[in-house]
Amino acid sequence: MTNFNTRLVHQPAQGDNGTGAVTVPIYKATTFEYPAVGAPIKDDYSRSGNPTRRALEDQLADLEGGCQGFCFSSGMAAIHAALAIFKQGDHIIVGDQIYGGTFRLLHQFFARWGLSITAVDTRDLAAVEGAIRPNTKAIYFEPVTNPLLQVTSVSDVARLAHQHQLLTIVDNTFLSPYLLRPLTLGADIVIHSATKYLSGHSDVSAGAVIVKGPALAQRVYFIQNALGAVLSPEDSNELARGVKTLSLRLDRQIANVKELVNYLRPRPDIAQIYYPGVKGLAGYEALQKEATGAGGVFSFELSTGVDPVRFVNQLQLFKLAVSLGAVESLVELPSKMSHAELSPAEQLAAGIKPGLIRMAVGIEDYRDQIADIKQALAKSRK
Ligand SMILES: *Cc1c(COP(=O)(O)O)cnc(C)c1O
Repeated sequence: MTNFNTRLVHQPAQGDNGTGAVTVPIYKATTFEYPAVGAPIKDDYSRSGNPTRRALEDQLADLEGGCQGFCFSSGMAAIHAALAIFKQGDHIIVGDQIYGGTFRLLHQFFARWGLSITAVDTRDLAAVEGAIRPNTKAIYFEPVTNPLLQVTSVSDVARLAHQHQLLTIVDNTFLSPYLLRPLTLGADIVIHSATKYLSGHSDVSAGAVIVKGPALAQRVYFIQNALGAVLSPEDSNELARGVKTLSLRLDRQIANVKELVNYLRPRPDIAQIYYPGVKGLAGYEALQKEATGAGGVFSFELSTGVDPVRFVNQLQLFKLAVSLGAVESLVELPSKMSHAELSPAEQLAAGIKPGLIRMAVGIEDYRDQIADIKQALAKSRK
C-alpha cells in the first residue's frame, strides 16, 4: 500500500487481531498482563501505550512521512508537549500570526518556565534570521495562517533552521498531510489540532505530534508519558474514522471554496479575498511550490457598505461558530470572536479589520452555500 488515499483508509496492522475485525478494536483496558516478571511486553499501562491509540499514531506518522506519532487530548495538549521538550533559558522564534491559544501558551505559560519568544513574520527570511540568538533552539510557525491565510515556505524556513542547527516546528492543522507534508520539506516536528480536518466532524477534541527522527521521538514520548494528556481509546477510534475520509472531504471543501471565491470576487460588496488556492490571490505562487491545495478556509473583507455583524447573523447554512475543518460550513467574525482578545489597535496591526469574515467551508452543495451568502448580503447592506 503506497498511495496516500489508500493509506488513509487502512491503519497499520497491530498484529494481535485474531478476530478478523476490519477496523482496530477499541481497547479500553488500562492495564495489561505481564506473562512473567521481567518478560518483554508491548503495553503495560494505557497512558504509556494503548493499541487503539498506537494504530492511529502509527498511521499519522506514516501519512506525514515521520518516524513516530503521538496523540493527545487536544491540539493545545499536543503543542504543549512539543514545546515542553525545551528548557529554561531556551529561545524560540515563532510566527507572528500563530493560533491565539499557542500565543497564550507561549506568553503566559512557557514564559514563566523561562522560555523566551520572539514573534516575526516568517514569510520574511531576513527577519527570521535576524531574530536568531545564541540560545535559539527552534522556529515555530503555521505555513498558512489564520485568518489571513498568509503563506510561509516550509523548505525556506527549514533550510535556514538547519544552517543554524535549529528545529523547525510546523503546525499543519490548516492543510493536513493530504495537502502539505512538512517533514518531507525539511521540518522536524509537525503538530495538528486533530479537532479540525483530521477528525472532520466537530465531535472529537484531539491533537497530534509527529516527529522526523528517533531522538526527537524519545523526547516527545517522555513528555507524553510524563504529563499524560493522552487521547482516549474511544476518541482515537473516532479520529481514525475521520481520517479515512480526509481527502474526500477536502476535495469537496476545496472545490466549494473555489466556487464561493469565484462568486464573491467580482462583487462590489467584497473589498478583498484571502485564499492562496486561487490564481491571482496573495500567496498562490508560494503555496503552489509545496502544497497541493489551500484547504477549506478562506476569508474576505466586506466593503464598508455592508454591516459585518448583520451579515454573519443573517447566514443560515453557515453556522456562527469558531473552529474549522468539519463537514458543516461555519462562519466567524475574527474581530469579535476568535481575535477579540486583541485591542482594536492590535487587530489593525495584525490586518484584522472589522469587516473581515472567515469561513470554514463544509461539504454541502455549493449552490446552497452561495444562496445563503447571497440572501445574507441582501439583508445586510447599509
Ligand atoms: C484549533 C487550533 C489549535 C488548537 O487545537 P485544539 O484542538 O483546539 O486544542 C492549534 N493550532 C491551530 C492552527 C488551530 O486551528
